[in-house]
Amino acid sequence: MNIEILGGKNEIGGNKILISDDDTRILLDFGMSFSKSSYYFSEFLQPRKSSSLRDFFEFDLLPDLSGIYREDYLRHMGRRKEDRSIDALFLSHAHMDHSAYIHFLRKDIPIFCTEETKIILQCIEETGKGTFSDFYTYCETFSFYLNKKGKLSRVDRRKEEYITERKYNIMKPKRKVEIGSFEIEMVPVDHSLPGACGFIVYSDEGNLVYSGDLRFHGLNGEKSYDFIERAKEADPEVFLCEGTRINEDRKDSEAGVKNIIKDLISQTKGIVFVEHPKKDIDRAKTIYDAAKSNERDFVVDLKLAYLIEKLGKMSPLDIKDLKILIPKKGWGLIDKEVPKNQVLKDYETWERDFIFKDNAIKYEELKDNPEDYVVSTSFWEINQLIDIKPKNAIWIKSNCEPFSEDMELDEKRKKHWLEHFGIKEYSAHASGHASGPEIKEMIKEIKPKEVIPIHTEHPEMFV
Ligand SMILES: [Zn+2]
Ligand SMILES: [Zn+2]
Repeated sequence: MNIEILGGKNEIGGNKILISDDDTRILLDFGMSFSKSSYYFSEFLQPRKSSSLRDFFEFDLLPDLSGIYREDYLRHMGRRKEDRSIDALFLSHAHMDHSAYIHFLRKDIPIFCTEETKIILQCIEETGKGTFSDFYTYCETFSFYLNKKGKLSRVDRRKEEYITERKYNIMKPKRKVEIGSFEIEMVPVDHSLPGACGFIVYSDEGNLVYSGDLRFHGLNGEKSYDFIERAKEADPEVFLCEGTRINEDRKDSEAGVKNIIKDLISQTKGIVFVEHPKKDIDRAKTIYDAAKSNERDFVVDLKLAYLIEKLGKMSPLDIKDLKILIPKKGWGLIDKEVPKNQVLKDYETWERDFIFKDNAIKYEELKDNPEDYVVSTSFWEINQLIDIKPKNAIWIKSNCEPFSEDMELDEKRKKHWLEHFGIKEYSAHASGHASGPEIKEMIKEIKPKEVIPIHTEHPEMFV
C-alpha cells in the first residue's frame, strides 16, 4: 500500500491523501489549505476561473495529477481528455479544509461519505455564492448552447440539462465498502459539525486508520472513544492521525460552554447575541439549551434554518422550536406595506419558504422584546444592529480566535461596531479538536506500527 500526502502535512487542513496499490487508487479528503491559499490570495484577489486549474497549479494549491480533474476545465486550458485514474473519494467531513476542492474533480468519481456530510455540502452549494462550489452538483462550464433565437448562449445554472448530480454514496457504520483490492469502513467521530468520521482501509498488505478531525469533549464524545476501539481491532500498520492541538494540554468541554453562556444570559437584561460556527449544530444546541433554561427563544438566521430543516431527524434541534430572523435584503421590503409577492422577490428561491412562516420574526420584535431572545449571529450580519439599536445587550464570541490577517482585521472592525452600540463582549468556546494528552492516549491505545501526523503545524511533537 502506497501513501502519498498531497496536502495537510505540516499545516492545519488542506487534507488530500492518496492511497494506492497496483490495482486501486483512492483519495481520503480533497480539501483546501487556507494557509497556502491566503499566502497568495485574499478576498479581492482570487484564483481566476478563466484559467481553470492553472492558478491553483501555479502555487501548488492543487496537485497536478492526471485523470482526476473535470473535463470542462481541462479542455478550457488546452489539455487532452484523460482516463479516470481514481476509483473513489472518501470524505471525512464537510469542513472546507477537507472538502472544498471537490469542485475541481471529475463528475464520475464516486464520493463516499455520511448522509450528514452530503446534506451539509448540498446546503453550502445551494445557499452560497462561491465561484468554485460544485460540491453536490456539477454544472458544465465554458460551454455554449443554441438559444431560441438561434444564437449562442453560455451555459449556466439556469440551464438544467447541463447540471448533473455528483455520484454520492452514503456510508453506514460497520458496513465495509469494497473498492478494488481495498475494503473501507467509515467510523463516526465527534467533531464540530454533524456527520464527521474517520476511516479504516483494509488491505492484504495491512490496514490503515485515518482519524479525520476529532475530539472527545463534544456532545458525542463517546463516538470518538468507539473509534479508538474499532481502530484498535484493525491492528493497523499505519495511523494517519490529526494533531491540530498536539501542542495544547487544555482539555475543552462543550458542557462548560453551555454553563458559561447560561450564566451570561441570566445576568443580561437586553438581547444576547452569540457568534458561533454556523455548521456546528451541536454548538447551536448548546446555545439553544442555555437560552431555554433562561426562558428565552433561540433565534437563527435563514442559512442555519435551512441546514437544520434539511438535516431533519439528524439534527438535535427541531426548526419548529426556533425563531427565524428574516433579514432586510435587496429593496428592504420586509417592513413596508407592499404585496407579499413583491416582498418575496427580495429573497433567493431557497429563502422564500421561510419568510412568512409562523415562527419567522423581524428585527422590530427583537427591538420591542429584547429580554425574550438569544440571537445566533456573525460578523457578516452585524449591520442588523443599526435596525435593532439594542440596549443592555451582550455579544458572546463562541468560535475560534482569528487565524489570518484578514480575520484579525474583521475582528477589529467588529470591536468598533460593538463599542459604537455599547455592547460588551464575552467569550465561551470549545475547540473541534482533541488536546495533546488525548491524542497521545489515543495513539497508545490504537498501537499502530507507524504514525503519520497530519493536520498539524507540529509534527515533531509526535516523536
Ligand atoms: Zn480540518
Ligand atoms: Zn474539521
